[in-house]
Amino acid sequence: MEIYADHAATTKLSPAAAKAYAETAAVYYGNPSSLHSAGQRAQEQLIACREEIASILNVSPREIYFTSGGSESDNQAILSAAHAGAKKGKKKIISTAIEHHAVLHTLEKLKKEGFEIVLLPVGTRGIVSTDDLEAAIDGETALVSVMAANNEIGTIQPIAEIGAVCKRHGVLFHTDAVQAVGHIPVDAKAIGCDYLALSAHKFGGPKGVGVLYCRTGAPLTPLIEGGAQERGKRAGTEDLPAVAAMTAALKESVADMGATEALLRRLQDRLIAGLEEIPHCALNGDRHCRLAGNTSFCFEGIEGESLLLLLDEKGIAASSGSACTSGSLDPSHVLLAIGRVHDVAHGSLRLTLGKENTEEDVDYIIRSVKEVVGYLRNMSPVWRDLQEGKRTYIL
Ligand SMILES: *Cc1c(COP(=O)(O)O)cnc(C)c1O
Repeated sequence: MEIYADHAATTKLSPAAAKAYAETAAVYYGNPSSLHSAGQRAQEQLIACREEIASILNVSPREIYFTSGGSESDNQAILSAAHAGAKKGKKKIISTAIEHHAVLHTLEKLKKEGFEIVLLPVGTRGIVSTDDLEAAIDGETALVSVMAANNEIGTIQPIAEIGAVCKRHGVLFHTDAVQAVGHIPVDAKAIGCDYLALSAHKFGGPKGVGVLYCRTGAPLTPLIEGGAQERGKRAGTEDLPAVAAMTAALKESVADMGATEALLRRLQDRLIAGLEEIPHCALNGDRHCRLAGNTSFCFEGIEGESLLLLLDEKGIAASSGSACTSGSLDPSHVLLAIGRVHDVAHGSLRLTLGKENTEEDVDYIIRSVKEVVGYLRNMSPVWRDLQEGKRTYIL
């Protein structure tokens, strides 16, 4: 039994994307910047991909920049807007407490450069309030950066409303739409954002390729100097096979979006209902305003890491919210932001399903989580204290 339930971390390369990658690598091997025919044929393919992606996002092909993925796109958008703002004496950036580290760490860097960083709260539902945003915007504000959908708890942010607020105040707006594109409709024109980041490997494309949408007229400075690729904003020979694979994956995801969403909602409802039978647990993030693929829970009295390892032994690939990548055991900033206390935040589990998952997978996951949570609680001194009334339950 092998169940992949970590689609928010990355997805398997889709067959259409793999085919596009192999064909493009074999046939369009020329450098798109070369003047000979092999180069020009590659250039034509690159143009076609740019047009396809632009049309899906409802923007102009001239506003599409190919990058190495979500992190690079987030970095470039934020640094470009911040430094352009600073030149006009605007050194305030407004974002949220639940952004991806690609955004938060870039903001920390800017803070060291003297920028004022305001992180808006998201409440227990995990959704930012446009009133809070509007109250925070002032004449010093250079940029607002709010993600379209959260990678840990799946909550969908009101980015169209945020886009309207930013426009009204004449403030640049970036949205990290990495978890949204290919999963829910994303129309950059309708959102009214100045920048938008997306990443291919979150919707069946390859790792290491993505897009930065930058509205014509919005400031954009290169992170990588060198050649004149991407209209001088991103040097380096374009990875055409990866771009072609990303384009194929995006086309397919968008075409199947309705059917995939319906399937994932059904699976999500079943999964949430099943896991809620476990005592002293709670769903993280708003129940309704969330990505169909995302189910995130906290279980009291256990450690998320042990839960993950035991689920892996049962063939289930899941994730927790803890950012233990740096060796620290800091609980997830997202779970803390929605009001989970440290102990509870440590017992988190993120299950993110994709279109290959089935009802049988969900039933197996529910059975396994029930078993493993029970097993871990039986061994937990914290759980014993809770049961004996020496501590009080939080969930
Ligand atoms: C995955 C992810 C990123 C980073 O994208 P990469 O292509 O892996 O660099 C950024 N933001 C969000 C919300 C993500 O889920």
